Amino acid sequence: MNQYQGIGVSRGIAIGPAFRFDETDLDFERHKIDDPDEELKRLQDAIEQTREELIAVEEQTKKAIGADEAALFHAHRAMLEDPELLDEIRRTIRDEHLNAEAALYDASEVYAETLEALESEYLQARAADVRDVINRVLRSLLGEAHAPTEGLDEPSVILSRDLAPSDTALLEPSVVLGFCTTQGGPTSHTAILARGLGIPAIVAADPKVLDIPEETCLILDGSQGKLIAQPGEDVLEEYRQRKVRQNAIFKQARKQAREPAITKDGHRIEVGANIGDVDGAKSALNAGADGVGLLRTEFIYLDRDTLPDEETQYEAYHAILAAMQDRPVILRTLDIGGDKDLPYLELPEEANPFLGVRALRLCMRHTELFKPQLRAALRAGAGHDLKVMFPMVTTVAEVHEAKAMLQTCRAELKDEGRKPSDQIEIGIMVETPAAALMIDQLAEEVDFFSIGTNDLSQYVMVADRTNANVAAMATGFQPAVLRLVRRVIQTAHDHDRWVGMCGELAAEPLAIPILLGLGLDEFSMTPTAIPLAKQIIRSLSATDAQELADEALNLTDAEEVQEFVRNQVPAADIA
Ligand code: PEP
Ligand code: MG
Repeated sequence: MNQYQGIGVSRGIAIGPAFRFDETDLDFERHKIDDPDEELKRLQDAIEQTREELIAVEEQTKKAIGADEAALFHAHRAMLEDPELLDEIRRTIRDEHLNAEAALYDASEVYAETLEALESEYLQARAADVRDVINRVLRSLLGEAHAPTEGLDEPSVILSRDLAPSDTALLEPSVVLGFCTTQGGPTSHTAILARGLGIPAIVAADPKVLDIPEETCLILDGSQGKLIAQPGEDVLEEYRQRKVRQNAIFKQARKQAREPAITKDGHRIEVGANIGDVDGAKSALNAGADGVGLLRTEFIYLDRDTLPDEETQYEAYHAILAAMQDRPVILRTLDIGGDKDLPYLELPEEANPFLGVRALRLCMRHTELFKPQLRAALRAGAGHDLKVMFPMVTTVAEVHEAKAMLQTCRAELKDEGRKPSDQIEIGIMVETPAAALMIDQLAEEVDFFSIGTNDLSQYVMVADRTNANVAAMATGFQPAVLRLVRRVIQTAHDHDRWVGMCGELAAEPLAIPILLGLGLDEFSMTPTAIPLAKQIIRSLSATDAQELADEALNLTDAEEVQEFVRNQVPAADIA
C-alpha cells in the first residue's frame, strides 16, 4: 500500500482502477511559409473550429453544472478575439513568414508566462486557461483529436499531470470516478469544475502518482487530498463503508434540500447562499437557500471599463431580489481593494493592499463610487427584505459615517420624489480582529453581524489568504480564530443581535457542529454546499454541539480540531 498527498479540491471518495491520461505536449514543426495569406486563412479556420467546440463545451457545462461555471467558456471564446494576441500572431505570420502553429504558440506563451509571473495566485492560475484555449486551436491546426477519457471503458480514477478546464467540463461522472493531477491549484478552474460536477479530485499531488501502473486499485479521498494505491483489504473496507454512509447522507441531503434546517432539539437555523448575480440567485433557490446571506456586488464593477451607474446597479439588484421571491437578501457594499482591483479607477499602488484602502475605507473616500450603490440599493430594497452590509469594518466611527451616508442618500431620493426603502436593516461583516473585539459597541450601530472568516482568519493568523505557502495557517479551524468567533457570538447575543457567517468556514462539514455549538444563527455559503450543510445541522442537537465546541476550542491547532470533530460526529465526516 502506498499513500500520496496532494491538495483535495473536490470532496468525495472514489474507489476504482487507475487510468493514466498522458497529456502529451503538442508536437509541431517550426518552419517558414511561402504564402502568408494561405497561412492566415488556416489560422482563421482553426480559430473558427475552436469557437464551435467551445460553444459546445459551454452548452454542456450549463446543463451539467450551471450558468456560472459555463460563463468560463464564454471568457475562453473571448480570448479567441483578443486583439493584442491576434495582432501579434498575424504580424508574425505576415512579416516573419512563420507557420501558424509556431506564431500562435510563441505569442500565447508570452501571455501565459506574463500571467504566471504576477503576484496574485488567482491570476497565475489563469495561465492554465490561456494554454487550454491555445492548445485547442493548435490541435485544430494539426488535425489532432483528443479526449482525456478516450480508451476509458470502465469507471476509473484518472491520473494525469494536468487536466485542462475545457476537458474537465466534459468529464462524465459515471465513468470518471475521480481524478488526481500533479499540477494545478485550488483556485484553478479545473478545481471549480470538478466541484460542480461532484467528481472527487486532488491537485498538486506528489509527482510519483504518475508512476502508478494502470489498473492499480486506488482510493481517492477528495477532502483530505489523499491517494492510496493498492490498499489493504481492511483499509478498502473502511473506505467502502465511509463511502456508503456518505452517499446516504448526500442522497438524503438532496431530497430534503428545500426543507428547513432544524436541529434534533428543535432549533431552526437559517442557511443562506453566497451569490454574485442573478444566475447565482437561481442556483441558490434550486439548492434550497433560505435567503442570500452574502450578495457580493463586485460582479457589477468587474469585467467592464467604466463605473456602473446607479440605474445599472438598480436593475441588477432588482432582478436578484425578484428571483429570490421575497426571501431576505443581504447586499454587501463594494469590497474592492486587497486582491480585487478595478483597473479603471487607477487606484494608487499600495505595499500591503490587504492592509490598505480597501472596501468600506475606499468607498468612504470615494463617494462618487459609494453613493450610486447606496441609492440603487435603497431603491431596489423598497418592498423587499433587502439588508445592507458593510465590509472590512474596523471602527465604530466608520459604521456611523457609512450609516449617515445611507441616510443622506435616502433623504436625497425622497427630495427627488422617489420611494427609497425606509426599513433597511444594517449589518457589518466581522472580518477584522478590531471589529471582533468591539462587538459590544458596534451592536449599538447595527442590526446584525456576519463573520467573514476568509479575511478574519488571515488577519488573526497573520497569514496571507492568497499565499499557498501559508494557506494551512490561515484557516478558520485554528482555535485562535474559533475563540474570537465565540466571543463575537456571545457578545452579540448579549446585545440581542443575531450573527451569521459567510466565510468559507460556514460550509465546512467539520466546522458546522462547532459553529452550531457556539450559537451561530445563520450560515451562508456557496449554493452547492447548502443541502449537505442543512443535513448535517439536522443530525445534531444544539446542546450536544455546545459541549463539543467547548472541547474543540481547548485543542491546540486546526488539525487537532478537525480530527476531534471527525471522531465525535460521524455525520460531519464527509470526505
Ligand atoms: C470573508 O472575508 O470571509 C468574506 C466572505 O469576504 P470575501 O471572501 O469576499 O473577502
Ligand atoms: Mg472578506
